[in-house]
Amino acid sequence: MKRDERAFWNERVRDIAPYTPGEQPRDRRFVKLNTNENPYPPSPLVIEALKQAVDDRLRLYPDPECWELREAIAGRFEVQPEQVFAGNGSDEILAFAFGAFFADKVLFPDITYSFYPVYAQLWGVPFERPQLSGDFSINLDDYTKESLHAGVVFPNPNAPTGRSMDALAVLSIVTARKDSVVIVDEAYAAFAKKNLSAAPYIATNPNLLTIHTLSKSASLAGLRVGFAIGDESLIEGLRRMRDSFNSYTVDRLAQVGAVAVMKDKAYYDYITRKVVNTRERVSAALSSMGFEVIPSDANFIFIRSPSRKGEVLFERLREKGVLTRRFNDPRIADFLRVSIGTDSDMDMFLEACRE
Ligand code: PMP
Repeated sequence: MKRDERAFWNERVRDIAPYTPGEQPRDRRFVKLNTNENPYPPSPLVIEALKQAVDDRLRLYPDPECWELREAIAGRFEVQPEQVFAGNGSDEILAFAFGAFFADKVLFPDITYSFYPVYAQLWGVPFERPQLSGDFSINLDDYTKESLHAGVVFPNPNAPTGRSMDALAVLSIVTARKDSVVIVDEAYAAFAKKNLSAAPYIATNPNLLTIHTLSKSASLAGLRVGFAIGDESLIEGLRRMRDSFNSYTVDRLAQVGAVAVMKDKAYYDYITRKVVNTRERVSAALSSMGFEVIPSDANFIFIRSPSRKGEVLFERLREKGVLTRRFNDPRIADFLRVSIGTDSDMDMFLEACRE
C-alpha cells in the first residue's frame, strides 16, 4: 500500500514552495562555485577562539541576547548594542523580519534572492515584484511612488545579478516609505567597490533595517551567524519573534567565533581585496571571450554565454568538475551565477569555459 506522504501535513506545509539551497556535494572533487562561499579560510583569531571555547562550558546555554557579540558589532558599525540583533544566519533574521514587520504587502524585485517569496508565503504576506530594467538595475520609481502601504526588501548588491545601488539611492526608498519597514539585505556589501552600506543611516530612519551575514565576507558560512542593524524598536520586534520560536538561536561557539571576526578587520580587508581583484580579472577574461558579464559588486558574477543555452553550459561545466548555479526563472534561464573562488579555481573555470 502506498501511504499518502502528505497525510499528516497541514495546509501551510502542503501549500508552501520551499527554497532550494545550492548543492553541497558530498565528494570534494568539484571546483565549488555555486553557493557564494568565501574561498579563503576564516581569520586565525577565529579558529583559535573557537578552539579555546570547546570545553566544559558547553554544558551551559549561551547568552540568548548575544551581548558580547552585539557590543563587538556595535563597535565596528558605530551604533549602540541595542540597535543590533544577532541570529542564526541572516536567513533566520529575514524570516523573523518578514513575520514581524510586513503585513498588507511587501515589494521586492522580480529577480532577486529566491528566499523572499518563500518567507512572504510562509507568513501569508501578499507580495508584488516590480520588474528590473533590461540591464537588471532597479527602477527607483517602483519603490518610491506613493501607493499602498507596502514594506520593501531587496539585497544591495542584488542577488543573483551582483548589481548594486549607492547608499543615496537606497536612502531615497527609505525616506519615501516612512510608514513601512525597508529591509536592505547587505549580504554581499563588503565586496562592493565603494562603500554602499545603508547602516550609517539607521539612527535617522527608524523604518530602516540592514541585514548582514558572516557567511560570505567573514568566511563563516559553516558557523551560521547573521546580524541586523536598526532602530531599537525594530530590534525589539525581532526579539519578540525569536522568543516566540527559540531563544537560543546563536549557539555558544558561534557567538565566540563571531566576536573574534570583529577583532581582525585587517585580515578580512585583505581577503576581500583578493576576491574583488579576482572578480575583476575573471570578468574581463569572460568579456573578451564574448560572454555577457553583468557588472558585479558581489563575490559572484552573473554571466551569459554567447553561444550556449544556460542549461547546456551548466551541465558541461559540471561534467568538467566545475559547479555553478542556475535559476529556472525564464528571464534569467540562460545566465549562470558563478561564485568567485581562488585564482586557481577561477583559472580552471576559465579553461573549462574556453573549451
Ligand atoms: N541574503 C542573500 C541575498 C543571500 O544570497 C544569502 C545566502 N544564500 C543570504 C541572505 C543568507 O545568508 P546566511 O543565512 O548564510 O547568512
